[in-house]
Amino acid sequence: MKLSGMRVAVIGGGIGGMTVATAFAQRGAQVEVFEQAAALEEVGAGLQISANGQRVLAALGMSARARAQVSPGTQMRDGHSGRKVAFIPQPSAGATWYMHRADLLDLLVAAATEAGASITLDRVVTPGSVDADLVIAADGTQSLWRSVVDGPVSPAFTGQVAWRALVPVDGAPLPDQPATLSMGSRAHVVSYPLRGGSLMNLVAVEERSGWMEEGWRQEGDIAEFRDRFADFRGPEREWIQRAQQVHLWALHLRPVARQWVQGHTALLGDAAHPTLPFMAQGACLALEDAWVLAEAIEAAHDVTLGLEAYQAARRARAEQVVALAKGNAWRFHLPRPWSWGAQMVLALGAGALAKRLDWVYEYDATGVIRRV
Ligand SMILES: Cc1cc2nc3c(=O)[nH]c(=O)nc-3n(C[C@H](O)[C@H](O)[C@H](O)COP(=O)(O)OP(=O)(O)OC[C@H]3O[C@@H](n4cnc5c(N)ncnc54)[C@H](O)[C@@H]3O)c2cc1C
Repeated sequence: MKLSGMRVAVIGGGIGGMTVATAFAQRGAQVEVFEQAAALEEVGAGLQISANGQRVLAALGMSARARAQVSPGTQMRDGHSGRKVAFIPQPSAGATWYMHRADLLDLLVAAATEAGASITLDRVVTPGSVDADLVIAADGTQSLWRSVVDGPVSPAFTGQVAWRALVPVDGAPLPDQPATLSMGSRAHVVSYPLRGGSLMNLVAVEERSGWMEEGWRQEGDIAEFRDRFADFRGPEREWIQRAQQVHLWALHLRPVARQWVQGHTALLGDAAHPTLPFMAQGACLALEDAWVLAEAIEAAHDVTLGLEAYQAARRARAEQVVALAKGNAWRFHLPRPWSWGAQMVLALGAGALAKRLDWVYEYDATGVIRRV
C-alpha cells in the first residue's frame, strides 16, 4: 500500500523512534514524533553499531561513518592481572563502529526532519490518547504501550549494576583501537574510544544484591566506583581512576513481548524486546525493526496484514539475540578457578567464537520483506 498521506504517530524520540520516523517519512507518510522529554538529548555514553545496524543507516541514506570510530576487534583480558586472554577479530560481516549516542541521535533527528517528520517535545502520550492511521510505540524498556498491546510485565532485577563514564583524553587523540573487555570476579569492564579518540567510554558491570532504581541518569559516587574496580589491572585501571563523573544503571530483565501488534499499534525497539547490554545489540535491533516495519506496511495490502508481517519477520530474530545477551551475563563474571578454565577455552577458540556470532551481524533487515 502507498504510504503517502498515511498519518503515523511515533511515541518516543529515542534511537528506535527517530529511525522509524525517518523510514516512514522517506516513504511519504505524515509522521509526528511525540517525546516526553523537554529536549531531545541522549545520555553521554557510547554505542556499538555493528554491520547489521549499519546496513539500515546506509539504506536510510545516512553517512554515519564520519561520526564513528572503526573497531579492529575486541581484546579480552583477565581483569586481575591485565593479561591478554584472547582477541576476538572484527566480524566477517564488517567492522563495528563506536559512536557517541548523542551523535547518532543528532543524525537521526536531522534525517527525520529532512524527510518531513515533525517532532513534538514535552508530551507524554498514553494509550488511547492519539489519533493516527498507525501508532508506533517506541517508548523504551518501561513502555506504557506494551502493557496494552501484550499485557502487564514485571521487571526482575538481575543482581547486576552497570556503571558508565566518559573520560576525556588528555593530549593526542586515541587512534582507532580494539575495545577491551576485562573479566574479573563477579565484575567486568568494557572500554572503547569515541569522537575521534577524544573520549574513552567505560561500562563497568558488577554484581550486587538489593533492588536499585532503573534508568540511565542516576549519578553514582565516584569514590565508590574507583574503589569497587580498584583491583582491575590493564588499560582500564587508569581510565577508572581518572573518571570524574559516573552514572549507575540497574539491569533488569523483561521477556520479549509475545504480541508486538494490536489493532493499528506496533511495539518497536526496547518496548518490544528489552535486552541486557552484553551483546551490544539493543539499538541495532531497534534500527532493524524500524526498516522492516516500514517495508512490511508498504508491501502489504492493508495495515493489519503489514503489522502481522512485521511481527512474523522480527520476533524470532529479537528473541535469539536477547537470549545470547542474557547468556553472556554469567560468562564474563565467573569467580576463580572457573574463570581460568573459561579464559583458556576463549584463548583457544576466539576465532571459532567470532564465527559462531556471524549470524547476528550478517542479518540484513533491508532484504527481509519480499514484495509480491
Ligand atoms: C549501558 C548500555 C549500553 C548499551 N550499549 C549498546 C550498544 O553498544 N549497542 C547497541 O546496539 N545497543 C546498546 N544498548 C541498548 C540501546 O541503548 C537500547 O536498546 C536503545 O537505545 C533502545 O532504543 P529505543 O528507542 O527502543 O528506546 P529508548 O532509547 O529508551 O527511547 C524511548 C524514548 O521514549 C520516550 N518515552 C517513553 N515513554 C513515553 C511516552 N509515554 N510518551 C512520549 N515519550 C515517551 C523516552 O523519553 C525515550 O526518549 C545499550 C544500553 C545500555 C543501557
